[in-house]
Amino acid sequence: MRIHAIIVAAGSGIRAGGAVPKQYRLVAGQPLLRHAAARLLAHPSINGVTVVINPECRALYDEAVAGLALPEPIAGGATRQLSVLAGLEALAVSPPDIVMVHDAARAFVPAAVLDALIAAFGDAEVDGACPALPQVDSLRRGEAGRFSGSVDRENLWRVQTPQAFRYPALLAAHRAAAPGATDEVAIALAAGLSVAITPGDERAFKVTEADDFAKASAMTSYSSRAASGFDVHRFGPGDHVWLCGIKVPHDAGLIGHSDADAGLHALTDALLGTIAAGDIGDHFPPSDERWRGAASDQFLAHAAELVRARGGIIDHVDVTLICERPKVGPHRDAMRARIAAILGIGLERVSVKATTTEKLGFTGRQEGIAAQAMASVRLPESIA
Ligand code: MG
Repeated sequence: MRIHAIIVAAGSGIRAGGAVPKQYRLVAGQPLLRHAAARLLAHPSINGVTVVINPECRALYDEAVAGLALPEPIAGGATRQLSVLAGLEALAVSPPDIVMVHDAARAFVPAAVLDALIAAFGDAEVDGACPALPQVDSLRRGEAGRFSGSVDRENLWRVQTPQAFRYPALLAAHRAAAPGATDEVAIALAAGLSVAITPGDERAFKVTEADDFAKASAMTSYSSRAASGFDVHRFGPGDHVWLCGIKVPHDAGLIGHSDADAGLHALTDALLGTIAAGDIGDHFPPSDERWRGAASDQFLAHAAELVRARGGIIDHVDVTLICERPKVGPHRDAMRARIAAILGIGLERVSVKATTTEKLGFTGRQEGIAAQAMASVRLPESIA
């Protein structure tokens, strides 16, 4: 069963205030839209996620989702319904079995909500499914500051997203729908489809008002990860070495398949370690001719992208270069600045240190350079 999700993020979100539409506002350091997309991408049964945006917000979008595995976004329409329809039509070239339609503002949907939604399709009679919570507060009618009547809360549900449907059924229903329809359940019911109620979750609340951003931030929990990396390259003929992304004049070069930048290699391994994503050789095999003489900044940038694709935040990195010569001190600030630029983090989060081994061992004999690195990151957990 192929499942594709559409995230509707074309609205202007003025109710939440702020300088940018609310889907691009930060919660726990990341745009709301990024939280929403990363959560769906992380679900093992969801094969892909497409975002529908306002094309005027393209630059905000690109920045918000940088590094996430998303296809080209789709331009939305004048109403939510038209935006969803545009997303559905875009999937027609390679139609999924199930399509989920999700609001970017419900950025913190627990995986269990998605599991239950998908499980509902085990019933062949079901055309769609929607997470919902029972209405527990009493409902009353009122006008002009006075209550005027009661509403029976029995059989009333507060619907959430994502709402999931068999793709052909939802596409047909949307093509026939009124442009003002507010959600897929309404459209599906109007088309006579059968929609199952699955368990919702309070944590999948819609970020609507300004206060909701503080509530969302407080709910996001991160776990800290630290990992180390180590690398060695042997000296050979040459007149410079690459260390931490800086070309350092020297009376020897370093031998390696790439540019032999031991500092960046150790740091790349440390970052990969924080997400248990193997090592640099797995991602850039020395057997691959593409990496012959390659600049190592792309290895480090790739590792950083993988961390960010997991919703991770790079808190700090620390590299120690181990050699008698060349002297690292004169290049230390340039190295820090280069690493900060590659990782897209502040200079204060980057440390470069150097030591000798008192002329002992292979580094002491100036046969090569060793480097070790530590990286500390925060990865989002399922929200509290
Ligand atoms: Mg290496």
